Amino acid sequence: MEHSPLMFFTCRDLARNVERLEDSTVPVLHRWLGRAHLLWCRNCSRFVKQYRTTVLALKHLQAPAPEQNLSALVAFRAWRRRA
Ligand SMILES: [Zn+2]
Repeated sequence: MEHSPLMFFTCRDLARNVERLEDSTVPVLHRWLGRAHLLWCRNCSRFVKQYRTTVLALKHLQAPAPEQNLSALVAFRAWRRRA
């Protein structure tokens, strides 16, 4: 994937590339520019905190057991037939 030093320049660019702030394949200078952006931009700083919290929460979710998937599917189909 191509990396540009401008990938974290604007708020929109930072939001689009937020998952790449910690990506070791992105040059250190580019990641540093992203961190510099976070130092002066409260909105992006808040966004990145929310992003990281969401990612952490999703890592702790467990996939439902296959029988749970099946019962959910059966319940959904029954609900669709009624609707
Ligand atoms: Zn910003």
